[in-house]
Amino acid sequence: MRQLSLEEHPQALTAEPFKILLASPMVLASVIALSLLPAGCVRAPSVHSENSSYIRTESSRWPNPRAIPVCIMNIHDIKPNLLNDLSTTVRTDYGTKAGVGYVGWEPCSDYYFKQSSVRVYFNPSQNWSDGNGSTGGNSLDGATGAGTNATMTINIDAKGEYPQNASEELKSRVRSTTLHEFGHVLGLMHEGDRHDSTCDRKTGAPGVNIGSYDPNSLMNYCRPAGQTLTQGDVAGIHTLYPELKGAGSQRKNSSNQKCWEIPEFSSDPGAPLQQRDCAPGVPNQLWRTQDLGNGEFEIRSSLTNTCLDVAGADLSSGAKVILWPCSGGDNQRVRLIDQTGGGKSVQFKHSGKCLDVPGSSTENGIQLQQWDCNGSSAQNFD
Ligand SMILES: [Zn+2]
Repeated sequence: MRQLSLEEHPQALTAEPFKILLASPMVLASVIALSLLPAGCVRAPSVHSENSSYIRTESSRWPNPRAIPVCIMNIHDIKPNLLNDLSTTVRTDYGTKAGVGYVGWEPCSDYYFKQSSVRVYFNPSQNWSDGNGSTGGNSLDGATGAGTNATMTINIDAKGEYPQNASEELKSRVRSTTLHEFGHVLGLMHEGDRHDSTCDRKTGAPGVNIGSYDPNSLMNYCRPAGQTLTQGDVAGIHTLYPELKGAGSQRKNSSNQKCWEIPEFSSDPGAPLQQRDCAPGVPNQLWRTQDLGNGEFEIRSSLTNTCLDVAGADLSSGAKVILWPCSGGDNQRVRLIDQTGGGKSVQFKHSGKCLDVPGSSTENGIQLQQWDCNGSSAQNFD
């Protein structure tokens, strides 16, 4: 097969990149045991099962790659610190580099079983000292749909945490394998399977080449140990999900330098607009300003495509600002008022009041509010 991740050679794209690049949930259903091995290491052959049910269709694309639900099948088998380490790795690498949002990371519930989701099983029967710290998993995509089985397996050990004396190399390999499996989730295949690959470990899965061979690709069995997403990998993801390109920009308070965010990648209507330390490129801190004409704008989250909104169209000072499905209502229409230093105040049309950091707080997790416009630094945003 050929590829999946790629260098930036858009002219090499076929007319139907989605159709060709995406893998069905059935396809890579076997465990991949080798992805932790360092470059050049030759071990037992991969056990990817290949069969004629390898279906690749456009419908298997994730409908919203900015908020792909992830849940944990057996949360009691993994210690919170290890889960946090792996989930932070995935969220940060995919969010910062590619604009992909992997959200949730809580125990699997009906919510996850009733929709396409990444259902992760942490297999506790492995032993870190075996050298395979963690191993592969299944591939799936937006067509996974309902079901109660795990859709990805990450091998850990019975203690559910890194060994006390775990080396950074071991940790980075486990993180790299986890990242690799989440590449399959998006539709990336094994870079080493390209016909022009110099990696000697093929799995034979079909795919299509985009751009030139990337020996360092996260999706390459022959990649360097501890690899994360490469530029080529990101280009592949953006070929599959072009809407993730140019996905908006951060908005931060000009004084405390905290960024607007939606907490926990929430897609719930009514999620609060908060401030937090900026994390470049993470989708829950990205925003787009839409010109509605007459000097009025709406501000949309790049994560959820919902709008900044004063809850209940409240007129009072101190009313909370939330995210709500865009309606064009006056409590979502804003004027942008120039402030000193190049920043702007955000004035809501319905109330004439301005977006405001309560008490000029510098704390993370503070929900923003509306307040009488006063030109203070608490109302000045870049
Ligand atoms: Zn793989």
